[in-house]
Amino acid sequence: MRTVVIGGGLAGLASAALAARRGERVLLLEQDRLGGKSARVRVSGQTVDTGPSLVSFPQVWRDLEARLLADLPVAERDAARVDFLPLPGLGVHHYQDQALELPLPPGHPLYAAWQGYLERQRPLAAPIARLLVTPPGLRPEFLRASAALAAEYGLRLRADRYLDALGLPEPLRAAIGVHSFNGGLGPERASALYASLPGAMLAAPGGVVAPRGGVYTLTLFLEAQARRLGADLRAGWTVRAIDRARRVVQARAPGGRLEEFAYDRVISAVDEGRTRVLLGGPAQPPARLTCSGVAIYAALREPLEAPLPRASVVLPDDLRAMSDALARLEEPQQTMALVHHDPPGELYPDNDRTVLSVLLTAPANGRRYDLESGWVRAQLRRISRVLGLRAPLEELLRAPAVLTPADYAAGGAWGGAIYGRVRPLWQAGPFHRPGYLEGGVWQVGTSVHPGGGIPGVLGGALIADALMSGRGRR
Ligand SMILES: Cc1cc2nc3c(=O)[nH]c(=O)nc-3n(C[C@H](O)[C@H](O)[C@H](O)COP(=O)(O)OP(=O)(O)OC[C@H]3O[C@@H](n4cnc5c(N)ncnc54)[C@H](O)[C@@H]3O)c2cc1C
Repeated sequence: MRTVVIGGGLAGLASAALAARRGERVLLLEQDRLGGKSARVRVSGQTVDTGPSLVSFPQVWRDLEARLLADLPVAERDAARVDFLPLPGLGVHHYQDQALELPLPPGHPLYAAWQGYLERQRPLAAPIARLLVTPPGLRPEFLRASAALAAEYGLRLRADRYLDALGLPEPLRAAIGVHSFNGGLGPERASALYASLPGAMLAAPGGVVAPRGGVYTLTLFLEAQARRLGADLRAGWTVRAIDRARRVVQARAPGGRLEEFAYDRVISAVDEGRTRVLLGGPAQPPARLTCSGVAIYAALREPLEAPLPRASVVLPDDLRAMSDALARLEEPQQTMALVHHDPPGELYPDNDRTVLSVLLTAPANGRRYDLESGWVRAQLRRISRVLGLRAPLEELLRAPAVLTPADYAAGGAWGGAIYGRVRPLWQAGPFHRPGYLEGGVWQVGTSVHPGGGIPGVLGGALIADALMSGRGRR
């Protein structure tokens, strides 16, 4: 079986490794460098991983890892496993004039409300984790897990409706609701599932983690295992077309010449809109897009007087206004910001300075921004004020690396939308199956599991693996 994998992000690398594990002859073609949105840069001599920063539902990774390492002796298997650093929680959430650390500590005035929320989400952790790795259909485990979620949400299919029903006090409701933007949409546009995720992620086995050394460690692991299992991974190769009639993939080599590769199966791990174009369809922007981001990575010029917590989430004063602006592909007046503060020697063992990452939720407008852009400056000023910094963030950072919607659009979805087009609520996260598109072509990756992040794309690769090897059939 000759398998061509298109795209070398986490989904493509996982799919290539799994296909090689199935004994197929695997060729992976990546137009840029391996890793896709997961990358590693050096800023002022410090290491910092760009793109994903935390891993939820780590059991999905452990399932994938176990499958890829199964042929090794136990000692080698143990040595190869990725070491996860447990994270204490989801960070300190700044909303209007309040700061809430999630999980809320005992003694906090809203502790009882938080515990009530957490206890209600706890039973959903196992069904969500199950759905992340189970092929949809009439299998009992899929039906049982779906029924558990349906019983909890009833007709409240949207995150805001579900949050209303939970009756949480406002600052807590906002701190929980804002996490739906991590899935690409505001609470009034996202599935109810996203309102459960902060609690379900914390309650799931393993909690929320970061690989020691940064998330790029996962990319390096998948690359190493795919190669060890015999996959041919090629960076700098751009796929131009999938010809289903002749069963060949056409690609441009780094030197510019065109080559064709015969296939029995194609696994497309690029955005589904790109796959459509490769199959000869039109290049059309989707009607609605999930959000993009402006991500800033830098070493601090000097340590902060009062160090920040590892993760801070700065909310806009008005979540609805932010969500509406993003839906119109406009810059929100105030956006959500995720700030990670990594002192030397913790996440990145070899760094000798603190590195800071700032992720601003941005419209999927395909634009390039820098620290001089008016919108970015205004957001950084607000964040600095909210976090109580003595100077605006841009003055504290040394030679930052900045990634923008234009960068995310270059290898991903239209406009740099992190999770591609907006799907109907019932196709959110783990509910959508990796698609079989006819003629031996499969679709995996972010656009199949919108908002699913790493567990979504890796779970999707595992589901596709089960379906391709016949283990997913009833
Ligand atoms: C700033 C940021 C923060 C995030 N934070 C988190 C987080 O904390 N936790 C989490 O779980 N998720 C997070 N995510 C989401 C997560 O990074 C993605 O879901 C995941 O990395 C997507 O992997 P993928 O393989 O599906 O897609 P991609 O990484 O986009 O890979 C697609 C690859 O296909 C290649 N390609 C495209 N067209 C072609 C072609 N024609 N020929 C060959 N190759 C092609 C691209 O170059 C790219 O390498 C974050 C994303 C971003 C951008």
